[in-house]
Amino acid sequence: MYSYFKEHLSKELKGINEAGLFKNERIIESPQAAEIELNTGQKVLNFCANNYLGLSNNPHLIEAAKKALDTHGYGMSSVRFICGTSDLHKELEQKIAAFFGTEDTILYAACFDANGGVFEPLLTADDAIISDSLNHASIIDGVRLCKAQRYRYENANMDDLEKQLIAAQEQRFRLIVTDGVFSMDGNVPPVDKILTLAEKYNAMLMLDESHSAGVVGKTGRGVTELFNVRGQAEIITGTLGKSFGGAIGGFTTGKKEIIEMLRQRSRPYLFSNSIPPLVAAAGIRMFDMVSETNELQDKLHNNTSYFIDNMISLGFDIKPSQSAICAVMLYDAKLSQDFAARLLDEGIYVIGFYYPVVPKGQARIRVQLSAAHSREDLDKAIAAFSKIGKELGVIN
Ligand SMILES: *Cc1c(COP(=O)(O)O)cnc(C)c1O
Repeated sequence: MYSYFKEHLSKELKGINEAGLFKNERIIESPQAAEIELNTGQKVLNFCANNYLGLSNNPHLIEAAKKALDTHGYGMSSVRFICGTSDLHKELEQKIAAFFGTEDTILYAACFDANGGVFEPLLTADDAIISDSLNHASIIDGVRLCKAQRYRYENANMDDLEKQLIAAQEQRFRLIVTDGVFSMDGNVPPVDKILTLAEKYNAMLMLDESHSAGVVGKTGRGVTELFNVRGQAEIITGTLGKSFGGAIGGFTTGKKEIIEMLRQRSRPYLFSNSIPPLVAAAGIRMFDMVSETNELQDKLHNNTSYFIDNMISLGFDIKPSQSAICAVMLYDAKLSQDFAARLLDEGIYVIGFYYPVVPKGQARIRVQLSAAHSREDLDKAIAAFSKIGKELGVIN
């Protein structure tokens, strides 16, 4: 049997490769940081990590993790409800709720699991999920696992959301679900308007704050801070794998009855281990740190506006962004790849995205800013963009 299957896979893989869609991974030999060392020996400035607050290699988090290794050991060897819950897990859940202004939190191994396990335990075929068309893959998969009726609205388009809400009036319960930041453009949905529509058409709201938590809002509390609607979304999901230290872990936080039901019925929670205690301990330290001072959030915001302002002055076509994502529009797929390759030669690591990751003819380079970047790092990146942009005829 396998020889036939092997032949089939080889053909498929060849097709992926010939379509130019084969994903090759670069290997990093240093900690994740503003400057990283690749296994080729090349040192590059990293502008493609989700390390928004620069915490991936933070000494306080490393110290907290090391200490927890001594006090709590390495692994839990159990799912939460049998014997896999430590005091650190409970403390971290409360820190997350305090950060977002919610009632309770449930931890998962990843936000992919949080989104995969949130819909099916709460909604049935009698209910409706109304989902933004650009929502993350894990939301799409989570919705697939649930029998609720599915409605999709155009990205951040309130007219279309209203249309879908009207269409969904026959169902018992309605849940609107949206990312807090859309990762390819860096835009945020108009959460204030979504809440107005939710009230008018009797719906609940779920936000995935994976790319917005730590980033959006003056103190990084996410889109509910930006729109001054803290505590108004019934459900918030998020990750510990981006702004919040970048290791591993996801969560759902929100109304306490919802969290309670997830602890009873959510399959990725019931049938999979949680994060190791050392990650929970570092997470606790992290939430304390970003609550004690706003230094990192301020630095990230300053870095982001400095970079984007300079890129616009140079004449680059930049997608309007309310996050730490700067999409440099190039439109042409090959140009996006050539541009990124030339930037790497200059020591700037970014990724060019093209169809099918973004719509056809919408190729771009995505730059992700971090509090870890120094002014010098930013100036180096801006100079490299300017040089290559002129060489490739993108700017004058
Ligand atoms: C990254 C991301 C996830 C997945 O987070 P993990 O914790 O890495 O599984 C889920 N949703 C959104 C919107 C994301 O950006």
